[in-house]
Amino acid sequence: MRLSGPLEHDNIVNGYGLRAVLWTQGCFRRCKGCQNPETWDFNGGFEVSVSEIKDRLKKFKGQAGITFCGGEPFEQPEDCKEIADWCRKELGWNIWSFSGYTYEQLKKAGGAKWEFVKSLDALIDGPFILEQRDLTLKFRGSRNQRLLHLKNGEIIKEE
Ligand code: SF4
Repeated sequence: MRLSGPLEHDNIVNGYGLRAVLWTQGCFRRCKGCQNPETWDFNGGFEVSVSEIKDRLKKFKGQAGITFCGGEPFEQPEDCKEIADWCRKELGWNIWSFSGYTYEQLKKAGGAKWEFVKSLDALIDGPFILEQRDLTLKFRGSRNQRLLHLKNGEIIKEE
């Protein structure tokens, strides 16, 4: 799969607890004010195999979970889901992802995108909208974005 940066650990700004973070490469959305425009180019970043990612993740100790950031994780949903399910089963981690898509759009899209949603404990959804920027929000940048807690794809709580 294509990543935009090295895997992180002990991150505390992309979800609850100490977290691994996987930065995907590629996003067509080009939101005004995006903090990571270097992640837009689908040919940018670098290629790394899913098995190599797993090998690196299992060296991270004391993490509560993993968060998929971007770029747009849902443009590589099969690989993200495989890593997510492996992290839950083998490492006991919870799974969060950001997306520029809304929950409803991902549900409507179905297929691999929806399958990845079903692997998540939390989704922070929607594009960053500069006009709705709010620095007081937990883990997100603009008021249109939601922090949705999920179980098997269903919303169980919104924060
Ligand atoms: S969806 Fe996220 S990564 Fe993509 S342009 Fe918008 S803010 Fe940037």
